[in-house]
Amino acid sequence: MLTPTHEPSKSPTPLRPLNEATVLSVVLPMHNEGENIDALFARLAPVMERLGVPYEVVCVDDGSRDDTWVRLQAAHAANPRIRLVRFSRNFGKEMAMTAGLRHASGRAVVLMDSDLQHPPEVIEEFYAHWQAGAQVVYGVRRSRDTDPPLRRFLTRRFYRMLDGMSEVPLPRDAGDFRLMDRAVVDALNQMGERTRFMKGLYSWVGFRQVAVPFETAPRHAGTTTFSTWKLFRFAMDGIVSFSTLPLRIWSWLGLAVAAIAVLYGAVILLKTMIFGIDVPGYASLMVATLFIGGVQLICLGVLGDYLGRVFTEVKGRPLYLVSDSVGFATGAAAETA
Ligand code: UDP
Ligand code: MG
Repeated sequence: MLTPTHEPSKSPTPLRPLNEATVLSVVLPMHNEGENIDALFARLAPVMERLGVPYEVVCVDDGSRDDTWVRLQAAHAANPRIRLVRFSRNFGKEMAMTAGLRHASGRAVVLMDSDLQHPPEVIEEFYAHWQAGAQVVYGVRRSRDTDPPLRRFLTRRFYRMLDGMSEVPLPRDAGDFRLMDRAVVDALNQMGERTRFMKGLYSWVGFRQVAVPFETAPRHAGTTTFSTWKLFRFAMDGIVSFSTLPLRIWSWLGLAVAAIAVLYGAVILLKTMIFGIDVPGYASLMVATLFIGGVQLICLGVLGDYLGRVFTEVKGRPLYLVSDSVGFATGAAAETA
């Protein structure tokens, strides 16, 4: 898989050592973004030049099946500040961002999508807030017009619900488009959990946060990789990793059901004492049995969900595997060590 022509030593200009202060890193997760790469860099480069500070762009190729990697290599050859990480397969956007954050060496790191839905020009505003002392500057979508109506509705509801359930407040309409100070990135990098629900982690770490509204653009090319099913699983990840409410809720329901059962028992007892034995009761028996059975199954499912996650955490596999990395001073060696 390694392509010797793109080993760090052969890149056109000598690489800056990692400890030469890179001020700003831009992390780009990429999955089948071949068609967007040129347009993205064409818009990103002028922004970075205008900022006029040493920067790097860390692109994480998350197991793309198109020409993303080839185009990235060309981009690196043209501009060695563009550094590349390639996953051995598709590990998902959250892992791609995780890897990007771990490879970034800047004093501040910007996370953004690679499909130009996050306008690169907003980085200048992020940067100004960071200079003014903010440690996290997060983009807030002015509208979700670029999403289909059903997805818009469901995401709204989901984030409202999750915000109510989790111990840390989650800012509405804040996504992955953000700038984070080195202190915040280091904090995130220390988190080893496998189920990485980044939006929750961002809030969990805290720090001085500032919101910047921005307008999402439609995707430049290609289609979203987040199907309804994938979004649903993502939502479940979010709930299970940031709330234990689903585990606790059943004891309350159990209590309520038990209370109702005691009352109903009393009613039956009185009825029997006053009116004598009454044979009919099939319907109430059936309803009660089915209801309790259903509740128990749901409860088992919830337990299984948490247990499954404990199991994956306990296995302690690496979060992702890097097959190639290009342009980093210590690069692949450090990664696989
Ligand atoms: N992405 C990724 N791995 C995946 C899916 C997506 O790295 O498995 C990247 C993708 O290349 C893009 C970003 O995550 O830069 C957002 O993806 P997408 O545009 O498909 O999602 P949406 O904008 O619909 O949320
Ligand atoms: Mg997108």
